[in-house]
Amino acid sequence: MNTGKIAIITGGTRGLGLNTALKLAESGADIILTYRSNAADGAAAVAKIQKLGRQAVALPLDVADSRSFAAFAQEVKSALAANWQRDSFDYLVNNAGIGINASVAETTEEQFDTLVNIHLKGPFFLTQNLLGLIADGGRIVNISSGLARFALPGFAAYAAAKGGVEVLTRYMAKELGPRGIAVNTVAPGAIETDFGGGVVRDNADMNKAIASQTAMGRVGLPDDIGDAIAALLTPGNRWITAQRIEVSGGMFI
Ligand code: NAP
Repeated sequence: MNTGKIAIITGGTRGLGLNTALKLAESGADIILTYRSNAADGAAAVAKIQKLGRQAVALPLDVADSRSFAAFAQEVKSALAANWQRDSFDYLVNNAGIGINASVAETTEEQFDTLVNIHLKGPFFLTQNLLGLIADGGRIVNISSGLARFALPGFAAYAAAKGGVEVLTRYMAKELGPRGIAVNTVAPGAIETDFGGGVVRDNADMNKAIASQTAMGRVGLPDDIGDAIAALLTPGNRWITAQRIEVSGGMFI
């Protein structure tokens, strides 16, 4: 299947970004994914998408470096022209991110700035730089976290930045609505990826503790998120905008 849609996914080399890229490709979209610095990671992800019969391009991007975003937008423009003969793309998934576990008492200013740069300033200015390339009628998905709703010790700065992106989502939805662009937040619960050192996946006690606090009785898997984002980006969900959609299997309800 080919829907003729093109999605940009930041942090598309592994974890939730890669899974989302694969699920969107399965549903018929072509993909521009970003890698931070390792071009081989980008190429490996591109090969997986091509195996599904869809076109893909990998571009380098550090979402913490907002000064690079104008040049990145030019790269996207060139890639769209060269590979698709288009001057626009359809979906933006602001996914790339890291976790830093530190209490309010211990968080350094540098850690705080890193988290805010990656999770709030990055999505804000990357989206700003790509506004002219997103097709009218397109969609934006910002990735937040269950931690913006419930509090666990050690995630104050991370969760505050994610909370910021949830507010930003509503403002983007308001301002881009006249162009028919829907903007939503997807907030995953705890998912088995490399995130946070892979603790949810690799620490059996942590895994069990979270599962016991989750309505569905287990922690999340990357497929749970990739499928949800791909479903959100289908024509039938065009009227959903400005929403925070938690995809956590019912964690801490
Ligand atoms: P992951 O498996 O660790 O993957 C993170 C991805 O983000 C990688 O592709 C990584 O690229 C990229 N990345 C990190 N920092 C970057 C930067 N400065 N610039 C560009 N790319 C960068 O983590 P994940 O679980 O997939 O997390 C994806 C998103 O989901 C994040 O926003 C995270 O906050 C959110 N989330 C995760 C969970 C969870 O439990 N897993 C829960 C809620 C929300 P490299 O490969 O180059 O490092």
